[in-house]
Amino acid sequence: MSTPDSVSPLSADDIAAITGNLDEVADRARAAAEASGRSGDDVRVLLATKTQPAEKIRVALGHGFTLIGENKVQEITGKAEALADLDPETHLIGPLQRNKVNHTLRHAQCIQSVDNLPLAEKINNRLDVLDETVDYFIQVNTSREDSKFGVAPEDAEELITATRALGRMRLRGLMTIGLPGSSPEEIRPSYSDLRELSETLRGSGVMPAEAAELSMGMSGDFELAIAEGATIVRVGSSIFGARDYS
Ligand SMILES: *Cc1c(COP(=O)(O)O)cnc(C)c1O
Repeated sequence: MSTPDSVSPLSADDIAAITGNLDEVADRARAAAEASGRSGDDVRVLLATKTQPAEKIRVALGHGFTLIGENKVQEITGKAEALADLDPETHLIGPLQRNKVNHTLRHAQCIQSVDNLPLAEKINNRLDVLDETVDYFIQVNTSREDSKFGVAPEDAEELITATRALGRMRLRGLMTIGLPGSSPEEIRPSYSDLRELSETLRGSGVMPAEAAELSMGMSGDFELAIAEGATIVRVGSSIFGARDYS
């Protein structure tokens, strides 16, 4: 079975490592959901695929995973064609510059990193031209640190009210990124804060009831994030191995 088309640059060992990791992450996510009184189906594993080649992502999509997240628009565009036959659901999980909105909307079904109104307006204007809609999350900085990314929790209500009024974007929930290098005890409050913010904003009608998704948790802490209510965990290195930024 070795026509040129079927030759993968990945070895059988590489492929077995990825599928083994996928099974392990899926098992751990399910167990964490059930331990917190939810169904395993309530939590989706998003494959955080930055720097990973399309061949590796293809293995994961072939193994039954459907949701991928890229940080850079260029990487989404670069891999979209190679993965088109597998039709993944693609989310942008990294910061979006306004001049990259058009490219993003071509390939991403969801933008998880909306954190300012000018960006939302730019997205909405483009959607008007295309006569399309897009899903989005509001990224909130709940890590209590200075960060360029994510709206401050106290400003989330105003931003959400303004973006919802734009009309073409469908709010799915809130997203946060835990502070890199923190211990689980340090990260946990930023996840519980996001859940509480979501409950408050849905309770008061600022967010619609169906915008109940919480995107939080990565390789080092996804079980903790699930315990705090995550519905999407974004897992990269524990599936694909360490990233090569060279
Ligand atoms: C890279 C990345 C992840 C995944 O990180 P890992 O530690 O490799 O699992 C999750 N979310 C965002 C926004 C990322 O950039």
